[in-house]
Amino acid sequence: MTRGRFAPSPTGPLHFGSLVAAVASYCDARQRGGKWLLRIEDVDSTRTIKGASDDIMRTLAAYGFAWDGEVVYQSRRSALYQQVLQQLQARALAYACTCSRKEIADSSTRQGIEGAIYPGTCLRHAVAADTAAAWRLKTQAAPISFSDAIQGHQQHALASAIGDFVLKRADGVFSYQLAVVVDDALQGVTHIVRGADLLNSTTRQIYLQQLLGYPTPQYAHIPLVTNGDGQKLSKQTLAQALPADNVKATLIAALLFLQQTLPDNVDRYSVDAIWQWAISHWRLPQIPPVQHD
Ligand SMILES: [Zn+2]
Repeated sequence: MTRGRFAPSPTGPLHFGSLVAAVASYCDARQRGGKWLLRIEDVDSTRTIKGASDDIMRTLAAYGFAWDGEVVYQSRRSALYQQVLQQLQARALAYACTCSRKEIADSSTRQGIEGAIYPGTCLRHAVAADTAAAWRLKTQAAPISFSDAIQGHQQHALASAIGDFVLKRADGVFSYQLAVVVDDALQGVTHIVRGADLLNSTTRQIYLQQLLGYPTPQYAHIPLVTNGDGQKLSKQTLAQALPADNVKATLIAALLFLQQTLPDNVDRYSVDAIWQWAISHWRLPQIPPVQHD
């Protein structure tokens, strides 16, 4: 059974970029006859805006999305993430790190794809048990690769591209990478369709899946919607909230962004009829890969 999912962060209202990701994962899961799950990624409660998750669900319902089963909230799953972290600790795959951001910047001599690579300082000295510490995952030099349904072959040697990454921050917040891997596995997600801003995270997630004995889902990363300045739409770039009164035109715009074929007289279709068309005519291969410079 196919299981797709949409996993917004409740850091503000849904915008057009999040709608595009939701439409893509919804059409993909429904065309395969599968379920579509909704997960609220509020693992970092310091970024959560009060009322945003309810607002997101109201907006999804207004646009005609119907999710299956209970909504999962990451903020209620710390015990699950802690169990998994303890497994990795017990196998000596994770280690405590007390370095500050500045110490890492000052001591790092290598740049990875997301900035300075942590040089493993805390692997070489003991960390007192009562010290507030982050937990990092040991990475390996062997490459991790996968075939993205839109972006094609992807590969990283994590030790040199990313370095030992954080699983739990010193303030007790579990990392996105750990939470998403645990949730996708426990929810039985088989097909992940999401924005290309997460393409570089995928090899970290696959590595965690391999260590934990979880199956690896199929991945498809869609191009990001950008504003006139070429920036990703986000709360930081002041993306507008999705309109509540112009659902049909906005839904059509999302399908056109995804290069999907629509009927000539789509303007006369109801929202329900547009969904029926979009799901039955969904063609993932029509979505263009991200252009690289
Ligand atoms: Zn350290």
